[in-house]
Amino acid sequence: MEKTFAIVKPNAIKKSCIGKIIAMAEDAGLKVVAAKMHTLSTKEAAGFYAEHSARPFFASLTTFMTSGPVVLLVLEADNGVEKWRKLMGATDPAKAAPGTIRKLYGDSIEANSTHGSETLAAAQREIAFFFDK
Ligand code: ATP
Ligand code: MG
Repeated sequence: MEKTFAIVKPNAIKKSCIGKIIAMAEDAGLKVVAAKMHTLSTKEAAGFYAEHSARPFFASLTTFMTSGPVVLLVLEADNGVEKWRKLMGATDPAKAAPGTIRKLYGDSIEANSTHGSETLAAAQREIAFFFDK
């Protein structure tokens, strides 16, 4: 079993899609093992996305991620990291495959409804960033 880290982003919460997104995770066999609703501070958003700090969209991304509450999730499944990334689809909802979460609930490449850890190491780092043991 593998734990991954997911965020339901502010645009999806504004559209009342928390339940639909979590249902898609559960239906795919990803078990919710931790969850909390939280409004990120600018410091948290910048720290979480530190790898993107030199990118032109960084300021806009941190503003978006602090624009309203998010839901922080730890999901667990066999091959959980890849399973959740596949279910989310491509970063840009316009390029995401039909039936994926970002295709269904993403509004733009920035407001793309969900986050998912890219690797197992990233998942462990990101879970520790938001959850204590
Ligand atoms: P995430 O890390 O959120 O799961 P990802 O791994 O698919 O998404 P990254 O390249 O890590 O994509 O980008 C992190 C986030 O930054 C994206 O989810 C999106 O919200 C935002 N982002 C990425 N590229 C752009 C862009 N070109 N313009 C605006 N925002 C972007
Ligand atoms: Mg990423």
